[in-house]
Amino acid sequence: MYLENGKYYLSGGVDPLNLAQNYQLPLYVYDGAIMKRQYDRMIQAFDVPKIKVNYACKALSNINVLSLFKSFGAGLDTVSIQEVELGLKAGFEPGDIIYTPNGVNLEEIGEAVALGVRINIDNTSILEQFGQAYSNIPVCIRINPHIMAGGNSKISVGHIDSKFGISFHQMPLVHRIVKTTGLKIEGLHMHTGSGILDPEVFLSGAEILFNISKEFPDLDYIDFGSGFKVPYKEGDVETNIEELGARISDRFNEFCRNYGKDLTLIFEPGKFLVSEAGFFLAKVNVIKQTTSTVFAGIDSGLNHLIRPMFYDAYHQIINVSNPEGKGRFYTVVGYICETDTFGVNRRIPEIREEDVLCIQNAGAYCFTMSSNYNSRFRPAEVLVYEGKDYLIRKRETMEDLLRNQVVAPIFEKVES
Ligand SMILES: *Cc1c(COP(=O)(O)O)cnc(C)c1O
Repeated sequence: MYLENGKYYLSGGVDPLNLAQNYQLPLYVYDGAIMKRQYDRMIQAFDVPKIKVNYACKALSNINVLSLFKSFGAGLDTVSIQEVELGLKAGFEPGDIIYTPNGVNLEEIGEAVALGVRINIDNTSILEQFGQAYSNIPVCIRINPHIMAGGNSKISVGHIDSKFGISFHQMPLVHRIVKTTGLKIEGLHMHTGSGILDPEVFLSGAEILFNISKEFPDLDYIDFGSGFKVPYKEGDVETNIEELGARISDRFNEFCRNYGKDLTLIFEPGKFLVSEAGFFLAKVNVIKQTTSTVFAGIDSGLNHLIRPMFYDAYHQIINVSNPEGKGRFYTVVGYICETDTFGVNRRIPEIREEDVLCIQNAGAYCFTMSSNYNSRFRPAEVLVYEGKDYLIRKRETMEDLLRNQVVAPIFEKVES
């Protein structure tokens, strides 16, 4: 959102207060132009013969967002069979979807095989079972490079005792499985965590994959995962994607020359592509002045956006209704019956009851982690693209809350 003549706008001059009026609040708004900008940055950062960016759709899985990324030329990274199905529904070709589950059984993987998508396996037990059942289906394997990275322990997934990936120390076992089952390994993958700042982390992970790759003669691609850090407030540092791209590209091209084939270089960002494109609009229900604090209580809570409470994530909060008001200090809280604080002692232009606040960086891991806690409805979602706005998910209703609830016969008379 940008400020012009004392008013906030989304790309294409779309007025967020109009959206608030038309769609009601709380509301998730996604700016497609920002998604496009981030996708283009990613593609342009790499100088290799074959590059593919697979959007990690667990960050934001509305099928319209998936279709938008498809229109940019992206592939899709999925972690469940349901995400695979959403991707197909959005129009992706099966070959452009990679399925990277963790801790699922062979049965679910079999469903993905039947749908024709690429399979990425992250443990030796399933690799062996897979090889016995589907020796003619080429697979990718997820390597754990044992790199400690990322913003916090919940999102760092590549370290030594992480549950993700096959340890690179277990390669002899992998080769034994490949040999006895006749499996073809078409790709190698790593994903070390979220919120990584340092290009060195990728480069050292890359070296480990290059090393392992030499022993797999049938590779088509190497997937370096994701975990890029984005800015959450002004002046915040972010992964320098351009520097990373230049350095990885050089090294990758050199590797391919030695390998004797141009492999596809894959990245699979979620947060980098959508975080900054999301804006969560909520109305201020109440201003509550205590002896120590001024609380602004909004018409939402951890049921809609849990990252501040779950990960201690910092999300900038702006007052869309009063951009030029005098700055005061507020603690912005939700309406859930446990502590759900969006921001503590933030300097924000004067907030009045009924004002519209916007929580920034609400594109990644916000709607997809929302719930019905306290039996509240999940909000609507709107996509803004090329100057127009589109409703892409309706606000829930009482019907949605009751949809799968079944009244047991012993309570049937209560209902009537
Ligand atoms: C979550 C995930 C990603 C995306 O991570 P971001 O930090 O959102 O970019 C990529 N690959 C895999 C396998 C994931 O699980």
